[in-house]
Amino acid sequence: KLYNQVQDLKGNIRVYCRVRPSLGGRSDFKSVVDSIEEGTITINTPAKYGKGSRSFNFNKVFGPSSTQAEVFADTRPLIRSVLDGYNVCIFAYGQTGSGKTHTMVNILSDFYKLYKIVSHAKYLDKTWTKHTGPKDLTETSQGVNYRALSDLFFIAEQRKDTLQYDVSVQMIEIYNEQVRDLLVTEEIRNNSQNGFNVPDASLVHVASMYDVIDLMKLGHKNRAVGATALNDRSSRSHSCLTVHVQGRDVTSGAVLRGCMHLVDLAGSERVDKSEVAGDRLKEAQHINKSLSALGDVISSLAQKNVHVPYRNSKLTQLLQDSLGGQAKTLMFVHISPELNAVGETLSTLKFAERVA
Ligand code: ADP
Ligand code: MG
Repeated sequence: KLYNQVQDLKGNIRVYCRVRPSLGGRSDFKSVVDSIEEGTITINTPAKYGKGSRSFNFNKVFGPSSTQAEVFADTRPLIRSVLDGYNVCIFAYGQTGSGKTHTMVNILSDFYKLYKIVSHAKYLDKTWTKHTGPKDLTETSQGVNYRALSDLFFIAEQRKDTLQYDVSVQMIEIYNEQVRDLLVTEEIRNNSQNGFNVPDASLVHVASMYDVIDLMKLGHKNRAVGATALNDRSSRSHSCLTVHVQGRDVTSGAVLRGCMHLVDLAGSERVDKSEVAGDRLKEAQHINKSLSALGDVISSLAQKNVHVPYRNSKLTQLLQDSLGGQAKTLMFVHISPELNAVGETLSTLKFAERVA
């Protein structure tokens, strides 16, 4: 309640910046980040970009040593909002390799390990808490998606004497402005037509984290179809996990509905038109178009414009009901600390400054 009031005062859009740690592990590593103070990040710009420094302001900046739990702490109140009947969008923006999937999922790389632990826990039924999943996993590396759903089931369980919740999920991918359902099984896929929209994507009821993890496994498997090691499509498509919640008041029978979209966006890097052609250029143009459409929507909401240009991309069309109005939006903007990425880092921060 209090959070909702605070949000209403501050507006419903928040932008957080997260800096990935250096992956090389070298002690002499020199980051382009000069300083981080609360919501301000200062970047040292090399000569090519006008030697000096440049500062950007956000609701908060998470430095390279921030943990997954610290990052999620600021997201947590939004989970309550969803269960209170609000719509929520959480985005991860940034160039490929800046840490988007780490923030949101971090199940991909660890997925099979996680699945093994889950199966094992299921078998032992010991480290597993029925609704919220295994404790050791939520406390270490798991990202926003996993934590958000764990929290959701936990809060729903706490409220069960007054509100009975029904939770279902969808998982889709948007690639070249085409939507693909990630939760279809093989038989369904063979019979389906192309070109559906999200209302047609499979909506699967989930009763616990067991079910969610099973679906994430299916979604990641489907996402990998058609991708090769050299042609990892995941960085060039948007993926979206949508959670629909329906709560029924036990005494009055009144029903409330909320939904949450957890979006791992395609890499924001600009490609050099002189170096790519054909499919790769087409992909780049689609990504460019949809990310700028998203930027336009969020910045016109932030400026409280009357006209909000939702129609300019598949992504903003699909999320229209959850962007603007009473809905709450959170964007995690990711940057890499390396000097060779500073051009992209500056354009990421400029994009984010525009929507903040
Ligand atoms: P993206 O999804 O933006 O392409 P990833 O999330 O895949 O980027 O991150 C790239 C690499 O950096 C991965 O190996 C990931 O594990 C690692 N990484 C990203 N963010 C962090 C972080 N905050 N702490 C530790 N490692 C990270
Ligand atoms: Mg990724």
